[in-house]
Order: sequence, then structure tokens, then C-alpha cells
Amino acid sequence: MSTEITPVLVVGGSLVGLSTALFLALHEVPCVLVEPHLASHPHPRAVGFTTRTLELLHLVGIELPAIPAGFSLKRARVESLAGTWHEESAWTPKAQPMTEDSPFRGAAIAQDKLEPILRDEAKRRGADIRLGTELVRFEQDDDGVTAHLRDKSGRVYMMRASYMVACDGNKSPVREALGIPRKGPGPLETMRSVLFKAPLESYLEKGVHQFEIDQPDLQAFLTTYGDGRWVLMFKDDLERDEAALRLAINKAIGKDDIPIEIMTSGRWDLTALVATRFSQGRVFLAGDAAHTLPPTRGGYGANTGIHDAHNLAWKLKEVLSGTSEPSLLDTYDAERRPAAWTRLEQTFVRPDYAKRARGFADGVAILDEAGIELGQLYRTLATDPALPEAKRPDEWRGEPGTRAPHVKLEDGSSTLDWFGRGWVLVAANDAWRAKPGVVVVHAPENVREAFGLTSTGAALIRPDGYIAWRKDAP
Ligand SMILES: Cc1cc2nc3c(=O)[nH]c(=O)nc-3n(C[C@H](O)[C@H](O)[C@H](O)COP(=O)(O)OP(=O)(O)OC[C@H]3O[C@@H](n4cnc5c(N)ncnc54)[C@H](O)[C@@H]3O)c2cc1C
Repeated sequence: MSTEITPVLVVGGSLVGLSTALFLALHEVPCVLVEPHLASHPHPRAVGFTTRTLELLHLVGIELPAIPAGFSLKRARVESLAGTWHEESAWTPKAQPMTEDSPFRGAAIAQDKLEPILRDEAKRRGADIRLGTELVRFEQDDDGVTAHLRDKSGRVYMMRASYMVACDGNKSPVREALGIPRKGPGPLETMRSVLFKAPLESYLEKGVHQFEIDQPDLQAFLTTYGDGRWVLMFKDDLERDEAALRLAINKAIGKDDIPIEIMTSGRWDLTALVATRFSQGRVFLAGDAAHTLPPTRGGYGANTGIHDAHNLAWKLKEVLSGTSEPSLLDTYDAERRPAAWTRLEQTFVRPDYAKRARGFADGVAILDEAGIELGQLYRTLATDPALPEAKRPDEWRGEPGTRAPHVKLEDGSSTLDWFGRGWVLVAANDAWRAKPGVVVVHAPENVREAFGLTSTGAALIRPDGYIAWRKDAP
């Protein structure tokens, strides 16, 4: 049997696998991605994509339609859409409004619409995407990973990769094969859902997009994918035939004369678990394989996974090209596992989930939403162990370990436009000289201030836009 060779094998072609392929392509690292399904799952899950995700997708030329300024995702408890509306509830009690921390706001796009965009762009950039192909098993040694792949014709062939990234979802066969345990509240419940089309846009006019349906014989959650499709999620695991689904949809709407097209139904395991290691040898876990975070209004699940992919891709590039020692790859677990764990805790410290895992987040303080999204600290780079795990981005002043801040430049562009492809030195004066592989940019006054630079200082920014170090003079 002949063996193909690739620097990186990506297992799983959903949001996180495709993002991994894209960010590897951005750094000109060839990869092969395998995914058993021939297309995206017809029942979308994620719909909310956050500011940081949009910053990262912008790097690979993907611009998603922005949500309107001032939009906040509102949820209300209702009898039905047409019936009595009870109270609205906030995701973060007493949340402060987001500041102007990014040129981007979030986007609402259904997972089955976003995946083809990512797939097409990854292919266009040269990623070898193999749909209809699954990983059957793998072995690893000191020099690489040998994967046994089965294509849609049933043919099994071998692929030798220097590294493998497992983006194979909550049940991750790769994580299971590695025997990596997970920690957290665990599987919470199994839910059923039905996806349908109906002309219900008028019920969105008050700005509420998520509805807790509260009737004595119907406890469910109703939300829209913003494209005429809606999903009704049942808080039980009952099998319903089409007539029962239609009846439940009508009850949730509060009317039975609205034309409804049932598209598909689903069964979900609502799970809250984080792997105890995000890598083993030459294999990395990303996305739900590493952390399964239950759906929230902060949209942590897919977004956190896309951020993992971005964190890992440039490190693989540095190590594969011989620019960095393989130990750089250890920082993937050291940075991304705490980030995922914080998001798990932040899910359970908020009212939506607090009751579901009593005791789990006891003593955890609620962090600011903007802080979780843009202000999490990587302790691998931090010089002061006393710094908190997250702060609002406008409260940081360029401390190493934080995301390099967005500052609007005179020509209307952003400091973020400087970062994302390689190493960048943001220097306060001309005394700083470029080293090979580092681009030097000169910081105007407002940038110096946001980066906490003295008049002779500089900050070195990693290819993922995080501040690696800051010095007062050359
Ligand atoms: C109801 C619901 C709503 C959600 N809403 C949001 C939201 O608004 N925002 C958000 O950020 N997140 C949301 N999430 C979470 C989000 O959907 C997941 O976090 C996201 O899909 C994880 O992506 P992934 O690529 O890591 O894994 P998955 O999407 O689970 O994909 C794993 C892939 O691996 C493939 N695979 C498995 N085994 C193999 C194998 N042996 N070989 C090759 N491939 C394999 C599978 O076929 C699959 O395509 C929601 C989740 C649910 C359930």
C-alpha cells in the first residue's frame, strides 16, 4: 500500500477543521483535511459568530454581514410568539455595553451557510479537502503520525503527517483513542429539535430573537437562523412524528394558520466538558473535540474552536519551517485549555445555566463579556502572575499576554491590519531595527498609549496578534 505524505492532517471538516485548514493556508502550510460527510449537516447548530472570530476570518478574506450597531441578543420567556410575552432576561446581569474595541461586531449566519464559505476559501488557498473520507485509525511515533483513511469507495489508504489536528467533534474518536479524559459538569441532557421554515419575521420586530416557550405542556426553546428558518428545541428526549412536531410548532407560535415547512429534525447531547490535555505527542485536539461548551448567548462553542485553530496554525508553521523549537507547540495547550475552561465556568456562573450544575462555578466571579471575548490573558506570555485572567480590552495597556489592541489610525485603518501574518515590532522610535522575519511599524501617539509604550519602547506582536513582550528601550 502506498503512503501519501502531508505536513498536517486535519481530521473533521466542520467549522473548526475548515478554520484550521484556512489558517494553515494563510501561513502557507499545506494540509490534507478529511471529513466523512459530503456536505454540511442540513440541521445547522451555530448561528452566532463573535467579534474575535470576525477579526480572524477577515485575515483570510472572509467578511460576514455585520450585525447592526447597538444590537444585543435578547431572550424572552413567552407563552408563545402570538400569546403573552413575559420577562426578558439578560445573558450577563448588569452587563456594561461593549466599547469600541474592534473594527468588527459579531455576525449571525447559520453553520450550514458558513461552512461552504470556509470550505471554498480553504480550497482556493490550496488546502486538500477530501470529503467522503474518514480517519479509521492512527499511530504516532517520534517523527510523525500514520493515519489510515477510508474514502467513499471504501478504499483504505495511508497518510503520513508530521502533525495531526483532531477537529472531530464532541465524541472525538481521536481523543478517545488517545485516552484523554475530560472534566466539567458533563452531559447535561439529550434534546430534540425540529428545523422549519415559516414567515414569522414580524415577531422579531421588538428585537427579541430567542424565546423560552413556557406552557404547562410545552417547555421548549425557539430561535431563528435569520433566513426564514427557525428551530424549536424540546427540553425532553421524546420521539415525535410529523403530526406531533407540527402541533408543537403551532403551539409555540400560538397560531395554527401559519404555513410551516418542516425541514429536518435533530437529537443533541448538551455537553459541558473540557479535555484534560489538548495535545498528546504530535496530535492536537481543537474545537468540540477539546472542549464541548453548551450553546450560550455568548456563542462560545464554535467561536472558541475557531480561536483554537488560529492559535495553533502559526505555531505549526514556525515549527515545521524550523524557525521555532517544537516546544512552541506546548503553548497551544497552555493557552487554549485555560481559555476554554474560563468559558465553561462563565457559562455556569450565569443564570441561564447556573441551576444545571449547582456548585460547579461556586466562587467564580462573572467576567465582563468584552473581557471574555477580547481580553483573556495568556499566562505563557504574562510577566506579572498577579494579573487577572481577563479584563475589558480598554482596561489593558499592552501587557504581554493580551491581544494587541485595536486603535483606529489616521487613515481610518486599524492597528489590527498590521498583525496576523508574521511577527511585528510596534516601535515608539527609529532606534529599533528590524531583525530578519520581523516587520517594524512606528507607533503614533495614540498607539503608544494603547500599547503602554514609553517614548523609547517597543512591543513584539506574535503572528496571532498577541503581545509577546514589551521593552522600554532597544
Ligand atoms: C443547538 C446548538 C446551537 C449552537 N449554537 C452555537 C452558536 O451560536 N455559536 C457557537 O459558537 N457555537 C454554537 N454551538 C456549538 C457549535 O455548533 C460547535 O461548537 C461546533 O459545531 C464545533 O465544531 P467542530 O468543528 O469542533 O465539531 P463538529 O461540528 O462536531 O464537527 C466534527 C466533524 O468531525 C467529523 N468526524 C468525526 N469523526 C471523524 C473521523 N473519524 N474522520 C474524519 N472526520 C470525522 C464529523 O463528521 C464532523 O463533521 C451550538 C451547538 C448546538 C448543539
